This record gives sequence, structure tokens and C-alpha cells, in this order.
Amino acid sequence: MNFCKLKQIVAASALLWSFPASALHIMLDPGHGGVDTGAVHGPAKEADLVLKIAQRLKTLLEKDSQFQVSLTRVLDKNISLPSRVKMAEEAKADLFVSLHANAAADQRAKGVEFFFQNNLPPDEESLFLASQENQMILNSQELHSISGGDELSKKGDIAAIVEDLQRQNRMMSSLRLTQTLTQVWGNDVTASQATIKQAPFYVISKTSMPSVLIEIGFLTNPREAKRLLNSEYQNDLAQKIYSALLSYKEKIDNHTTLD
Ligand SMILES: [Zn+2]
Repeated sequence: MNFCKLKQIVAASALLWSFPASALHIMLDPGHGGVDTGAVHGPAKEADLVLKIAQRLKTLLEKDSQFQVSLTRVLDKNISLPSRVKMAEEAKADLFVSLHANAAADQRAKGVEFFFQNNLPPDEESLFLASQENQMILNSQELHSISGGDELSKKGDIAAIVEDLQRQNRMMSSLRLTQTLTQVWGNDVTASQATIKQAPFYVISKTSMPSVLIEIGFLTNPREAKRLLNSEYQNDLAQKIYSALLSYKEKIDNHTTLD
């Protein structure tokens, strides 16, 4: 290779490296809405709370050119779970972040929980919660049109392997995202406990991109419900999720450069 050619290559690669990493497209999914209020305890209504936090998070992400942001809903409107998945797929979102609020029979239950989907059998408690969050879908005909089981069996072996690798990659990225979220929460000593769980929630099972479902707290815990209704605390939650997304983006960008 002559020197001139080498110089050209170096110049071209310098140009390539100087490009900023592409914006990460986040699809925020405030759960429930409209007739589907989600959990309601006193003045605390899940559908309203998660929409407020999603809007605060959207404002933070919009100010940052490293991110692109979309929402599955901006109004108090009922949107089916398959439609939410479809929106994320059509937008070619890089990450799907679903926001929910918890409810439990035990009033003492508290804290933030992060759910990701993998292939292991979910624990019973998670399964129960998932069935509650999914119940709007159970009678829906749309479920059949999106499941596509027959289509999968027609595909060849190589396609199946590629799909398996993609699933694996998606699962690992989802896990990495949930771990990043718990790290952010873990840095805050005043925060109540944050845990990672797995459950077959419809929206995080059906999306092809890495996804996480965040239960922002328990509406059945009077102290936590009061806190969730406070706008400063809502800002704090949005800020924490934003910090985690920043840290996640940093991790994947660094990983790409190392390759
Ligand atoms: Zn919910």
C-alpha cells in the first residue's frame, strides 16, 4: 500500500470516528389509560402517575441530542398492548421502557421494581402481577394476529439461529439496562429498595428491541402513594431513569468502539 493511499484511509477513518454515536431512540410506554385506569388507591391512579413521569422523562430526553424519544400515549386514552408493541416496532425504537405502578395485598410492600423478560420460569409473585397487568389483553382478538407462531415454524434453520442470537442479545441488553437502573437507585441511600425481577409482561415479551418494565412504587403503601403524588418526587424518578439511560448509552457506545 502506498503512503498516499494510507493517508487517505487514515483521513477517512478519522472522519468516521469523529461522527457522534447515533441517537438512541427510546419508546416510553406509560401503562394503562382511559377506561383502563390500572391500580387506583385513594387519589393515586396508576394511569395518571405513569403518564406524568413519562412526560417529565420525555422533557429530559428531548433536551439531550443523544436521545430520540417517542411515547405510546400522551393522553388519558386506552391503547391496547399489541398497539403499543406495534408503535415501538414501526418507530424502530432502540429501547422500550414501560412504566407502571404496583399494588399488593400487603400494605407494607414498597420500592421500585424492574422487570425484564428472559427464558427462565418467572417466580409466582411476578406471574401474578404480570397476569394483572396483562388482563386487558386476555380477551383481545389482536393477540392472535400478532403472535405469529405458524410463521416462525416455516422459517429455515439459519433464520432460526439468527433469531435465537437476536433474542439472546436482546435479553442481555435488557438485563444490562435493568442492572444500570438498579445501580442508579443503589447510589441513592435514601431510596427504598430496588429489585430486578422477571415476568412475562406482554409489552416486554413481544417487543423485538431490549425492553424493561418499571414498577415505580406501590400505590397500596400509604407512604409511597403520597410520595408518588408529589411532583418533586415525580421529577426525581424521571431524573433517575434518565441517568440510567445515559449510563446505558455510554456503556453500549463504549462497547461498540472497542469492537
Ligand atoms: Zn400497570
